[in-house]
Amino acid sequence: MNSNMSNTAFTKVPFLSGLDQESHAKWLVALNEAARGFTVCDVGELTQAERHQASVAIVANPSASQLAVLPNLVWVQSLWAGVEKLVNQELAPSLKIVRLVDDRLSETMAEAALAWALYLHRDMPLYRQQQDQQQWQQWPVKLAHERSVAVLGMGALGKRVAQKLSDTGFVVRGWSKNAKSANELTVAHFSGENGLLEILKISEIVIILLPLTEDTSGLLNEQTLSYLPSGASIINFARGPIINDDALLEGLNAGQLAHAVLDVFATEPLPEHHSFWTHLNITVLPHIAAPTDQTSASKIVANNLVDYFENGAIPTSISKARGY
Ligand code: NAP
Repeated sequence: MNSNMSNTAFTKVPFLSGLDQESHAKWLVALNEAARGFTVCDVGELTQAERHQASVAIVANPSASQLAVLPNLVWVQSLWAGVEKLVNQELAPSLKIVRLVDDRLSETMAEAALAWALYLHRDMPLYRQQQDQQQWQQWPVKLAHERSVAVLGMGALGKRVAQKLSDTGFVVRGWSKNAKSANELTVAHFSGENGLLEILKISEIVIILLPLTEDTSGLLNEQTLSYLPSGASIINFARGPIINDDALLEGLNAGQLAHAVLDVFATEPLPEHHSFWTHLNITVLPHIAAPTDQTSASKIVANNLVDYFENGAIPTSISKARGY
């Protein structure tokens, strides 16, 4: 047993979030239902001594000032898969960030990717527009195996998405930073800058599942979007700034791009007068592709904390240098 466990302060795990009160309170209930041998509480419930002793906290987009009241944190467990806001904060260099990796989240994301890939594949935006004009017009139907889909980002989410789309019959290819061996993946894989050019050239639907980092910000810009075949579509389920909005609008308005399904934006909620709201070739979703499931996430968090308290094991943390 870790010596920390003998101190009762470590049976209280602070939960810091930037959530509204109601959501924060719901998370506290879910986290405590899953907790074993510890309780999760607000930082206000800790004495000054307990704040100094706390070596781990559960977090959901906390502010730097919230984190500052726990000066001896060794690691934080995020409830979100995307942790770019934490990475971009001024944190103690030694503080480890553990993000949420949850099969249920991957499955939910795969379902969303399938739903919206089919929406594009079967021309639903076009038929919706035709209905608005009472226009009876049939277009040729492509089969799934004639449709090429690129998944940008082949991590916990991208891999499952690629598998599900491939199982449905689409021609799926993945792209990520590092080369991968054939037995790691079930779909063709590309990597690096040249790999991006190659995969974009042959993809009709591009699904973005990359983390937002210095390298991925603006990755889909005027130049990279121009590699796509005419009439290609984009699904962004990752983070808004990965696409350059002006380049996207230009591509859509020029007809180079057919449609964009956007779940994430540079500013969320999407501002009231933003041109995306009314653009015929943009589908706006309110960051709903794959919400964290409170029950499964709370169990994963509880297992991680028990392992830490009992064995001193800290789960794999992200690399702050590479940003994910
Ligand atoms: P992950 O497991 O960390 O995977 C990230 C993938 O992106 C890896 O394949 C990585 O490549 C690749 N990558 C990172 N930087 C790259 C670069 N510069 N060039 C090429 N590839 C790069 O992350 P995840 O769990 O799949 O999550 C991905 C993102 O989804 C999250 O960061 C979050 O922003 C977003 N998300 C959105 C929602 C929603 O509801 N809309 C929900 C959850 C998550 P390597 O494999 O080579 O390292």
